[in-house]
Amino acid sequence: MSLYVGRFAPSPTGKLHAGSLAAALASFIDARAHDGRWLIRIEDVDQMRCREAFSRSILEVLSRLGMASDGPIIFQTEHTAQYEEIFHTLLKNGFVYGCSCSRRDIHEANLRLGKPLNHYPGTCREGAHGPVRAYRFRVDHHPVSFVDRRLGAYVQDVEETVGDFIVKRADGLFAYQLAVVVDDHDEGVTDIVRGEDLLDNTPRQILLYEALGWPVPRYLHIPLVLNDRHEKLSKQGGARPLGDDLLLECELAWQHLGFERIGADSLDAFYRKAIEIWKEKADV
Ligand code: GLU
Repeated sequence: MSLYVGRFAPSPTGKLHAGSLAAALASFIDARAHDGRWLIRIEDVDQMRCREAFSRSILEVLSRLGMASDGPIIFQTEHTAQYEEIFHTLLKNGFVYGCSCSRRDIHEANLRLGKPLNHYPGTCREGAHGPVRAYRFRVDHHPVSFVDRRLGAYVQDVEETVGDFIVKRADGLFAYQLAVVVDDHDEGVTDIVRGEDLLDNTPRQILLYEALGWPVPRYLHIPLVLNDRHEKLSKQGGARPLGDDLLLECELAWQHLGFERIGADSLDAFYRKAIEIWKEKADV
């Protein structure tokens, strides 16, 4: 049995674009280079922003790319019971508390305290001051660190950076931070390969793993694909959807990952060569 389980976990908030293809490709090639399993998970937990049509479109492109999940494709909307159960464990053990602050309360407190506006000032830590809206994970001042396979040591004091963070939102939906940790653990994921935009979320997720007594996976955050204005490509920002020539798109994503064009004449040949090259990299 392989000791490696990787995954690609797109949120269906738009079609697959150059940035998400780079994440799909890197996670797929890394899994294959480790003779590991590779899973697809549709992260549709944020039902306000996700669309079924985008899930279908992403899965259709992955299928055309020949990137098949080595297990059932998970949809987070089908996992609410699991999130609820873990949420209650955290609540029972005092890791999570109810918060009655509105966005405005938080904004005003931060202005008073001279803190960054999205930082949670801890107002409800000792008890909510009104009806509970959301639930937060309690953090304290200490450095949370991990070693990223590409970027090396990363340290963040979560209390300083974001403060107690939301695990269940005011609209009743579970937050990405909780859902992603529960699912990665549930699916036995050992290696997370994803975009660098999520690097600063990782310490929050590590705190959840620690609170739950679960092993923390390895992380590899890949460079972000930027547009001409040097902004991160995003589905919401209207990033160009992939063209029909998926081999060409893979070659471009591969170059974005820092490699030279392979010049393969089929997707299969491209993957074979890419796996070979990836294996030669020192950090694999
Ligand atoms: N669902 C997230 C996204 O599409 C990725 C989450 C992750 O890889 O941890 O940006």
